[in-house]
Amino acid sequence: MLIFLLFFLPWLWGEPSQAAPAEPPDLPEDAQDPPPDQTPPPDPPDPPAASIDEKTSLNVLVEGTLQSMDMGTYLLGVVRAEMPASFEAEALKAQAVAARTYTLYKMANGGAPSHPEADACDDITCCQAYKTYASAAAGWGDEAAAYEAKVRAAVEATDGRCILYEGRPVLAVFHSSSAGATQDASDVWSASLPYLRSVETPEDEAAVPGYRSTAVFQAARLKELLQAALPEAALGGSPSNWFTNIRQQPNGTVTALTVGGVEVGGNQLRTILDLRSACFTMAFDGDQVTFSVTGYGHGVGMSQYGANVLAQGGMTYDEILRWYYTGAEVGPYERP
Ligand SMILES: [Zn+2]
Repeated sequence: MLIFLLFFLPWLWGEPSQAAPAEPPDLPEDAQDPPPDQTPPPDPPDPPAASIDEKTSLNVLVEGTLQSMDMGTYLLGVVRAEMPASFEAEALKAQAVAARTYTLYKMANGGAPSHPEADACDDITCCQAYKTYASAAAGWGDEAAAYEAKVRAAVEATDGRCILYEGRPVLAVFHSSSAGATQDASDVWSASLPYLRSVETPEDEAAVPGYRSTAVFQAARLKELLQAALPEAALGGSPSNWFTNIRQQPNGTVTALTVGGVEVGGNQLRTILDLRSACFTMAFDGDQVTFSVTGYGHGVGMSQYGANVLAQGGMTYDEILRWYYTGAEVGPYERP
């Protein structure tokens, strides 16, 4: 009995068992509250993610005055001016990315010869439109605060993102609306670019204000405009004889024609006569010529109204951009 007690006494007295671990078992750190007086100082908050747009500074000619601003500020002005702020959020993001990409492409390719001192200007025939908040808000009325928030969200959510082809920003041209299909760049301009191809686009009369328009000219005025731009053209007799050899895309866009014996691009004629697009038919009635026009713009790259219809159908901005810029990718890009 004594032997038995001697053997078991340590156990009876509660001494630690030799089988117990010398150290307390590992516990997840958050399972052990430290004593209050030993609470470590909180970690400093993460710095805000570095904005690529904020790091990209631009000189912009606004109403003839050179202003220095970052890319994010510039893009707010472009998106306000270039797309209705009532559009879907994803369409506005697609616009912000296209505008950013267009700007960086231009900067990387020598800028605009008309303003070597500026990276961009506010002339739509040279660069992109640009509106200050005050100017945009005057048109937005009661919606001004909400629309500005949408524009700002589109720019910030796509910070630094560009449309890229072989890793470089593309010539991200865009236009207002097309008739069923966009145009291949080679059918509108002399250059052919692999990502500026004709693709289907979903906008129609119901989606686009002014989708169909007419331009009516008296023969004398028409002759004056054509002769000024095409001095070699022989424009005698009835206007119905002036336009020959008209070549059209399946959607009706005129790619080229002969005017009084002079070869003219459809987009060139559109510019000469200030038509809304090169998708037109002509009707002759005595001394009067009527151009019936569908869509608005040169027809190349993203259709803005098409982008809005695609966004309404659930497409995200990068899907929209990949739809309109064949073979391109969308990703962050920083100037080298
Ligand atoms: Zn410019």
